[in-house]
Amino acid sequence: MIDRICISINNKCNLKCTYCHFHEKDFVKNEDMDVIKILTNVKEYAKRTFKIGFVGNGEPFLDFKLLRKYLEYIEDNEFIKTYTITNGTIPITPKDIEFLEEHRVNVGFSLDGYKDLHNVNRCNTFDVVMENIEKYKTFTGHYPTFNATVGKKTLENLHRVIDFFKPFGAKITFSRMIGFKGITLEEYRMFINEAEKHLQIRKGLLDCTMYGGKCGAGKNNYFFTNKKVYYCGNCIDLSPVDDSSVSLFELEKISLNFNRDYCYKESL
Ligand code: SF4
Ligand code: SF4
Repeated sequence: MIDRICISINNKCNLKCTYCHFHEKDFVKNEDMDVIKILTNVKEYAKRTFKIGFVGNGEPFLDFKLLRKYLEYIEDNEFIKTYTITNGTIPITPKDIEFLEEHRVNVGFSLDGYKDLHNVNRCNTFDVVMENIEKYKTFTGHYPTFNATVGKKTLENLHRVIDFFKPFGAKITFSRMIGFKGITLEEYRMFINEAEKHLQIRKGLLDCTMYGGKCGAGKNNYFFTNKKVYYCGNCIDLSPVDDSSVSLFELEKISLNFNRDYCYKESL
């Protein structure tokens, strides 16, 4: 049973973060994809809670009008829950934020931690991201959730990172940095075990080991980008599973057997 997908709505980004595996693999390119067809397929398929993340391979707020159109298209489906993640550098209006609130979209801001730590990989954007986070809080009355990537420097400064996030009182998804600057799954799990003693953390279930869960590749989640479907955002350099127009009933027939406590991609 598939219960979540991620969709890259635009494949473009205004940043070039040093650890971005989409840039690393030269994957941020602009190929139009029929997102309405994907959403139609989800509406036909979803008969219980189904999560759509408008994330991955790009910055969704660069195309807010598109995002709005897609959210309006699925608003009549009671089972679909949505979230998006922004790099926090794109100014959005109070009207846009109100729209996201009305549509109960969980908005996550990518923020790696205190200024130096964030800036080292995320193009010196700390100040503007913090400014937009405060604006979001002013408009909504609450902080957004956060998405922080955990690399070697985070491990070395574990308690400084924890102390940075504590005052927000918001939920944080810590994701494991992969690629040439990455850390091992064991290092990541050690970090999570300590961080969850002090912070509200979102841990994946059957989803992805990069977020503290089990690997859902080829089982319950898929990633749509560049007119194709992949097992996940990290699997974009493997052959695509199918075209993005494929029905979810077809995708459901796929089965991969491996130890889901570990990352499928890394087990190849
Ligand atoms: S904001 Fe996201 S998609 Fe853009 S470069 Fe950074 S990690 Fe990559
Ligand atoms: S293959 Fe790896 S990165 Fe992809 S969902 Fe599984 S654990 Fe996550």
